[in-house]
Amino acid sequence: MGQLDGKVAIVTGAGRLRGIGRAIALRLAQVGADVAVTAVARPQERFPEAERQAGWRGAESVAEEIRALGRRALALDVDVTDGAQVRAMVDKTLEELGRIDILANNAGLALVAGKKALWELEDDEWSREVDVNLNGVYHCCKAVAEVLIRQGEGGKIVNLSSMAGRLGQARYGAYTPSKFGVVGLTQMLALELAPYKVNVNCVAPGSTDTDMMDGTFRRTGERMGIPFEMVKQGVSRFIPLGRQADPSEIAAVVAFLVSPRADYITGQCINVDGGVAML
Ligand code: NAD
Repeated sequence: MGQLDGKVAIVTGAGRLRGIGRAIALRLAQVGADVAVTAVARPQERFPEAERQAGWRGAESVAEEIRALGRRALALDVDVTDGAQVRAMVDKTLEELGRIDILANNAGLALVAGKKALWELEDDEWSREVDVNLNGVYHCCKAVAEVLIRQGEGGKIVNLSSMAGRLGQARYGAYTPSKFGVVGLTQMLALELAPYKVNVNCVAPGSTDTDMMDGTFRRTGERMGIPFEMVKQGVSRFIPLGRQADPSEIAAVVAFLVSPRADYITGQCINVDGGVAML
């Protein structure tokens, strides 16, 4: 018996081979959940080398991995910044998988991290990051909260913030402010949904080995004129546990927070960062 047998989860931004979203979707399926794997459509020519070599097909590939575990899965193209697409995601999940118990808001965007100070930002760079990282969480929470209240059987929401949403980081554009916003939204919604037995929590990963973090290392290296590998190794030296997280280590904490073992935890932000921020 899995801890999430009979539960249905939605995971956003889960279409990347090396992403945290895929790790969350697989982990929830391993402990029993059926999963709607959602991702914004990406043109094949922009797939990273590792995805091309693997013959990767985005969310559909993750859905296949989940079906291979014996669970039901749905692959959906969803841009979380678009309220209508998010509502369609919820409707399709209800239609195909019958209910919704869990939402993992994983979709995120880091456009200029490592590169630009605030005064160097294009207005559009600021707006796009806020739109994905904060407005996207709003759209998904709103649409799923309505369903959880209607179903009347509780539920679990986990939002992905970041170490950059716990401590100020220089040259992170709107990423840092938007991820701080996710923590505030989580606390507010946890209070609003507590009467409905819906737990709302945050996970704040530190540096995790994904395409997103590689982008930050690359931009930092370009700005400072040092190689990518040197930046990557240098960052690990500032992490008390001495290394980046593997996506599966973030997924394990999300899986705990959406399990019955976390029924008495709500409104919290759990740092999964190798000991960088002790708050
Ligand atoms: P990633 O870039 O691999 O994954 C983010 C996913 O979000 C991608 O699949 C991307 O396509 C998707 N996305 C972007 N815009 C979207 C939109 N408009 N609609 C739907 N999906 C969209 O990054 P990751 O490292 O796996 O990050 C996952 C989450 O964890 C993000 O919220 C990120 O901010 C957070 N995080 C990551 C790290 C890290 O070090 N990798 C650290 C802290 C927090």
